Amino acid sequence: MESFDALTSLVAGGGVVVLSGAGLSTESGIPDYRGPSGVARRHTPMTFQAFTRDPLARRRYWARSHLGWRLIAGAAPNAGHRAVAALQHAGLVDTVITQNVDGLHGAAGSPSVIELHGRLDEVTCLDCGNLTSREELHRRLAEANPDFVARVAAVNPDGDVDLPDEQVAAFRPVDCGICGTGMLKPDVVFFGETVPPQRVSRCFAAVGQARSLLVLGSSLTVMSGRRFVIRAAKQGIPVAIVNQGPTRGDGHATVCVDAPLGAVLPQLAARVGAGAPLGV
Ligand SMILES: [Zn+2]
Repeated sequence: MESFDALTSLVAGGGVVVLSGAGLSTESGIPDYRGPSGVARRHTPMTFQAFTRDPLARRRYWARSHLGWRLIAGAAPNAGHRAVAALQHAGLVDTVITQNVDGLHGAAGSPSVIELHGRLDEVTCLDCGNLTSREELHRRLAEANPDFVARVAAVNPDGDVDLPDEQVAAFRPVDCGICGTGMLKPDVVFFGETVPPQRVSRCFAAVGQARSLLVLGSSLTVMSGRRFVIRAAKQGIPVAIVNQGPTRGDGHATVCVDAPLGAVLPQLAARVGAGAPLGV
């Protein structure tokens, strides 16, 4: 309770920059592979090097991703996302930096979001550079693999599957629909890939001007997000962390709240007078 009060007074002071991670989206049904429920990570993340150099790894990625896309496309923002949007509209949160690629901050009505690791609903061509929609790619993949989903669902109804090799071998990925031959990649930052420098600069600029940095649902495992916490701490900007379980930024934080975000954030928004969260 003491830490919730400290959190409240920090946010009530305004000028907050939010850094959000996977823990904010778990209540929307998107699995958090590093949070408390994701200890037994079932799949090692795809690296950029494997994706671009290994045709079999790429085929496996698209086969799994074709199944998983329905889950992402069907996900809706939860009370935590809506509370963040309400805090922005109340003028207390200036900028949201998110490590999530699900687009749920925008869907909840957040006006200013820097999507650090890109968006899963866009696809880029590594040859011609054109961005196209994932929905369009999904349609093309479904056309190229008419029986795939039904075949896999028959053996693996939970969707998060270890695809048998013969299923992967039968999956047919497609190339860029614009230049005709380019390799397609979801417009997200893979492991082994760097975030575009301009995007990182925007984040550092936002953090540098913040009155406080509020971390929501990130274990801060990767440096990509943790560097903003380190920068804030170095500049004497208070850092508050709301997460389930410890994080690698706890040593830099002035306040840590270990609780489910969907419960804490609406309470926080109400307490600082940000009113009823939007879109309820
Ligand atoms: Zn292309």
